[in-house]
Amino acid sequence: KLSKRLETVAKFVPTGAIMADIGSDHAYLPCYLIHQGTASRAIAGEVVKGPYESAVGQVQKEGLTEKITVRLADGLAAIEMTDHVDTVTIAGMGGPLIVSILDKYPEKLQGVTRLILQPNIHAKVIREWALAHQWAILDEEILEEDDKIYEILVLQRGQMKLSTAEILFGPKLSQRKSPAFMKKWLREKDNWQRVLQSIEEAEQTPEIEEKRAELMALIHLVEGV
Ligand code: SAM
Repeated sequence: KLSKRLETVAKFVPTGAIMADIGSDHAYLPCYLIHQGTASRAIAGEVVKGPYESAVGQVQKEGLTEKITVRLADGLAAIEMTDHVDTVTIAGMGGPLIVSILDKYPEKLQGVTRLILQPNIHAKVIREWALAHQWAILDEEILEEDDKIYEILVLQRGQMKLSTAEILFGPKLSQRKSPAFMKKWLREKDNWQRVLQSIEEAEQTPEIEEKRAELMALIHLVEGV
């Protein structure tokens, strides 16, 4: 059974999609999407040999070798133009790693119309990347599983405008204010306040002062949602 996290990523893959899952590990997501009849074809990309072999084994075990191609490749290099991939998923990594994957082979995104990204941390850098590269947020989701809170960003091509608060919290998520959203940001706020307290006891240097101002600004932002 797929995790709730990956099931939520899967929910945003359009019917009939030709999808590439980058950093696919066991290829669970592509296998699920093909079995479900959502994706018509899939690429599973992996850069590490062990997980790549797990993906190959899983696709064979599930009898899906006709529909899923597993490639050992760095990020988007797993996509070939003749695949006609229109949807890319990248899940289970930090935001900065996801952004570095998107930036490394930009030409591979030429035919891609939807990105479904699930950063474990720092979703903010993905929203900044989207703003800078003419991708717009179609939808967002936040969920809790095994005491961890995950964000999912669904992007399509287009322009958008985001405030500083929306870049941090997500424009859709901060409108909906779901229980998982509130829990995440109250948790973050507690952490920032704890750091702020410890800083206040420390010696005042320009660096500390800058950090203090940064934390106060973040706390102020959270209090505004
Ligand atoms: N996507 C799956 C999920 O969400 O459950 C697996 C997540 S796993 C924590 C991250 C996977 O990404 C690892 O198997 C790792 O080898 C792979 N990975 C990291 N950097 C990569 C890159 N540049 N290209 C392809 N795969 C990468």
